[in-house]
Amino acid sequence: AKESLSENICYYEPGMDERARHRRQLANDLRHALARDELRILYQPQRSLKTNKVSGYEALLRWHHPRFGLISPAEFIPIAEQTGEIMRIGEWVLRAACAEAVRWKWDGKIAVNLSPVQLLKPDLPERVTNILLETGLSPRRLELEITETAIIADKARALHSLRRIKASGVSVAMDDFGTGYSSLDTLHSFPFDKIKIDKSFLLRAEQSEQAGTIVRAVLALGKSLGIPVLAEGVETESQLALLVREGCDEAQGYYFGKPGEAPSMIAYRASFQ
Ligand code: C2E
Ligand code: CA
Ligand code: CA
Ligand code: CA
Repeated sequence: AKESLSENICYYEPGMDERARHRRQLANDLRHALARDELRILYQPQRSLKTNKVSGYEALLRWHHPRFGLISPAEFIPIAEQTGEIMRIGEWVLRAACAEAVRWKWDGKIAVNLSPVQLLKPDLPERVTNILLETGLSPRRLELEITETAIIADKARALHSLRRIKASGVSVAMDDFGTGYSSLDTLHSFPFDKIKIDKSFLLRAEQSEQAGTIVRAVLALGKSLGIPVLAEGVETESQLALLVREGCDEAQGYYFGKPGEAPSMIAYRASFQ
């Protein structure tokens, strides 16, 4: 009885310590992840609902930790942002994803997520241009996905960087639309090339009338601003039907394909093009 009591006590108090220690451990290991070849990129198709063809792929990062196994980017990206490691990792993702897209035998887009930390570095536009030159990817084929948090952190600086990036021919998508605070204001101040409706709305769309209404409202907004809308998180045929009915431009989700191996590594052309 005494033993189980002490186990109970141990469970709570050092639980916090344990979490903090785990985080420190990850932060430390992350510094070596690139050199140790533990990072991989998976690619998820984005499909045009107008032509029914794959229009591009989103690059999604994975970390295969030698002891803890597969770690989600939702867990390690925030750590990398805190330690500054995101700069090296983000640059690596961008370079690797652009190099991958160069190997495709068609001119689809490669979409790469950008951390707010990367966006707020003044030399981001040069870094992007250099990677395009290095890899030989046409700027028209690169799309950077940016969340609103990145813009809100320092609006003037973010918009200045985004304008320079756009001027180089790279396109910019607003990611996770609808989860931020001043989405309308941000959309108004910067000419995004795409709006990505956050997957939480679609995941709720079937159960709740309201979520469906929000999806419809974003589609109407995109239409009135002349910005194409992509819906994330399409998992079912009925979600797809809703999007097609409402005139959504593009979609992405498990229904079309989970994030997977690099397109250049698989025989994808026959089925998608
Ligand atoms: P995100 O940019 O919103 O990416 C979409 C997430 O939804 C991905 O999670 C994807 O695997 C998942 N997803 C796609 N289709 C479906 C679906 O039909 N249903 C559901 N439930 N989920 C779906 P993932 O790959 O775990 O990435 C999580 C987040 O980590 C990303 O969210 C993004 O914010 C961040 N991230 C991933 N790779 C990078 C990267 O290279 N750089 C940066 N800065 N962030 C990244
Ligand atoms: Ca994204
Ligand atoms: Ca998203
Ligand atoms: Ca997200």
